[in-house]
Amino acid sequence: MVQPFTFDQLPSRIVFAPGALSQVGSEAERLGAERVMLVHDAMTGESANAVAAQLGDRLALRWNDVAQHVPVELAERARRAATDNSIDAIVTVGGGSSTGLAKALALSHRVPIVAVPTTYAGSEQTTIYGLTGGQHKQTGKDPIVLPRVVVYDPELTLGLPGSVTGPSAFNALAHSVEALWAPGCNPITSALALEGVRAIARSLPQAMSKPADVDARGDLLYGAALSGMALGATAAGLHHKLCHVLGGRFNLVHADAHSVILPHAIAFNAPVLPGEMARLADALGAPGKDPAGALWDLAVASGVPTRLADLNGSEGPLQREQLPGAADAAAAEITVNPRQVTRDDLLGILERAYDGKRPDV
Ligand code: NAD
Repeated sequence: MVQPFTFDQLPSRIVFAPGALSQVGSEAERLGAERVMLVHDAMTGESANAVAAQLGDRLALRWNDVAQHVPVELAERARRAATDNSIDAIVTVGGGSSTGLAKALALSHRVPIVAVPTTYAGSEQTTIYGLTGGQHKQTGKDPIVLPRVVVYDPELTLGLPGSVTGPSAFNALAHSVEALWAPGCNPITSALALEGVRAIARSLPQAMSKPADVDARGDLLYGAALSGMALGATAAGLHHKLCHVLGGRFNLVHADAHSVILPHAIAFNAPVLPGEMARLADALGAPGKDPAGALWDLAVASGVPTRLADLNGSEGPLQREQLPGAADAAAAEITVNPRQVTRDDLLGILERAYDGKRPDV
């Protein structure tokens, strides 16, 4: 029987098709945009050129300085430029870093976003924004930062290197996996999440071995969109909080941290979530198996990082001595989790992730 639930559906339009990049200009026009700020990064300049041509006179400002975790100083510079150019809308072409900067701008300037994601980060489907200053990543929620239109074009991801594809897909997987038990979860968010896991698990190996396979890329992008929606309708859990702390303190590559932490965070919660674990294992294509181990196997098969010790921060490789401080910071942020969790439990998760052994549930 379906348990009673409440579900706030987020108001966002999706255009999903190979070649959909050609529709970005008309989507911006539908919103009534007249002074558009186009945000992209160094790797998405060519696609941004195509969007700039579609925007014509409606393009007021082009901005290609983006960084992951949205440093406050960068957001302030972009905000000044947005003010100077009287922008009334933002179009982004890029990964979560481009979307993240657009969200910081939408927050201050209260203007709509048209997002064209080129990774699997899923930020385009959430009201969550993040800003980082003084080694601390502050996140918040505001409906204004949710892109009004998201244009998904799998062709834009054909050139995404494996070193980004695999970890970014794990970032998406993490959204779906934690949405199965995060605060706010309900039968609809679980349906989104499980379909997201199925789509990613079946397409990731093919997208890694044949990067230009547009069908696999489309499936992966579809899974990432669903995963973003599942995160957007629930809340960040223990796994996400650990990754935010690692990203904010050490400037680790966001998606790499997700790849390494996910199996260990799942293994910690597995004993108290038998029903969710069984459904997750089914969705991963590993019925009856332990999903933490199945995720670790998928990570190894996809060639994504599996050891924190292998990840570089702004001061070089992460050191084991840095883990206790990260556990302290995460303990201060994690208030809700299905299994009671202490600071020492968090340190244990980080240490197991540091060593990078297959979780043993
Ligand atoms: P990113 O945007 O930095 O992209 C990763 C790398 O891929 C970059 O080097 C970029 O240049 C490159 N790239 C992007 N598209 C490409 C393409 N089509 N071809 C070739 N290279 C390409 O990183 P990300 O992993 O997409 O996003 C991470 C950021 O997003 C973090 O700051 C994270 O906190 C944020 N995030 C936010 C949410 C949210 O809901 N607010 C959700 C997920 C992630």
